[in-house]
Amino acid sequence: MTLWLLAMELQPHQPKSFDFPKRSFGKKVPVMRSFQASWFDRWPWLHYIESRDVVLCFHCAEAKKQKKLNWCNNADEAFISKGFYNWKDATVKHVQHESSNCHKEAVLKVVTVQIY
Ligand SMILES: [Zn+2]
Repeated sequence: MTLWLLAMELQPHQPKSFDFPKRSFGKKVPVMRSFQASWFDRWPWLHYIESRDVVLCFHCAEAKKQKKLNWCNNADEAFISKGFYNWKDATVKHVQHESSNCHKEAVLKVVTVQIY
C-alpha cells in the first residue's frame, strides 16, 4: 500500500451529497432536523457514520483507539465512542467539543504525529 492510499484512509468520512435522515426534536412542538453537510466545512474533524446517522470526532476517536487520551478527565463520549446526533444543538456542541481538553490532546497526539 502506498503512503498516499494510507493517508486517504486517515481522513474523516464526509459524504457531502448524502441524503441525511431527519430526526424529531422537542416534545411539545417537534421539529425535524437532519445533519447539515455545511458542518463538514466548518468542522473538518466530523466523521459521519451513515449506518447510524451519528457523528464522531475523527481525531478523538482515533486517539482513543490508540489509547493516547490521558489528560482529559471528562471525556466527551458522544463524540469519542457513542456517536453524537443532537442536531438541534449541534453547532454549540461542536464548538464546545473543539475547545475541550480531550480534543486538543487528540489533535496534538494524533494529527501532529501524522503530519510530521
Ligand atoms: Zn475531538
